[in-house]
Amino acid sequence: MTKPILNRRQLITAAASAGVISTAFATTGKVAQAASHAATPMAGMITIHKLGAVTLHSYTAPEASALVNTHIIETANELHIIDAQFLQSFASEVRAYADSLGKPIKQLYLSHAHPDHLLGAAQFADVPFVTSDAVRADAEASTDMFEDRKAQFGDDTPLYMPEGGLGLGATSWGGVAVEIAEIKDAEAANTLTFHIPEAGLVIAQDLLYANAHAFPLGNTPNWIAALEGIRATDDLRLVGAGHGLPASPGALDDAIAYLIFQNEVITSSGDAETAVAALSEAYPGYGGAGLLNFVSYRY
Ligand SMILES: [Zn+2]
Repeated sequence: MTKPILNRRQLITAAASAGVISTAFATTGKVAQAASHAATPMAGMITIHKLGAVTLHSYTAPEASALVNTHIIETANELHIIDAQFLQSFASEVRAYADSLGKPIKQLYLSHAHPDHLLGAAQFADVPFVTSDAVRADAEASTDMFEDRKAQFGDDTPLYMPEGGLGLGATSWGGVAVEIAEIKDAEAANTLTFHIPEAGLVIAQDLLYANAHAFPLGNTPNWIAALEGIRATDDLRLVGAGHGLPASPGALDDAIAYLIFQNEVITSSGDAETAVAALSEAYPGYGGAGLLNFVSYRY
């Protein structure tokens, strides 16, 4: 009997379920939990952009949680929230901030099925949590890995999973037109983007790592094509990143250049250590350094 050959995603899933892939977040997660418990002021950073009909409130976690973002879209009468943080401590900060805005949370959306965007959804368990059927299926397939992550951090909150069925294409959030698109096989298997034309805003989530190291296990050509597609958006003013602060459209050029360089470095280096050193040297100020631990899965 021949041994089955696993594709890249199956390898990652297998590694994750074996508990191997956790190193990137395991250490930083513990540090972050401890730090956020000790801190009285908010550990994350809120940035606010008033964009006409909507206000974007972005919560960016500290470097210890790889600068992962939750974006709150405030319309006249309601809130729509995209992604829910990795650690409960940061998710509870987002929840408290959202509640302070004094408007009902209409829905929480999952952009893609990676744990740093989903596990904190437990803090929103009273809110409808939705995503596309494809992202829902990705999440379903990763349930064991999610439970492993939670166990590592001593997180005993029940896993709160999204419902599928979110429609793609045009919709309305509190009277504001929103276009939801699904990008296949880029940073994740499926990633939703949210475009609000009248605000000149695209929430790109993990298609954009802004001033931060990008997850090195994506499909680089498809990912670059997705960034080029976002760059071609009419009247684009602001891009909501998955990691790093919301950015001007020029950050898309930076992200494309980074991905090209990252792929060249990884394919031309003899081992992960050499590649990580080259990436760190070329981008010494970049956040999300913990993501470089995933480079080893390219060897
Ligand atoms: Zn992420």
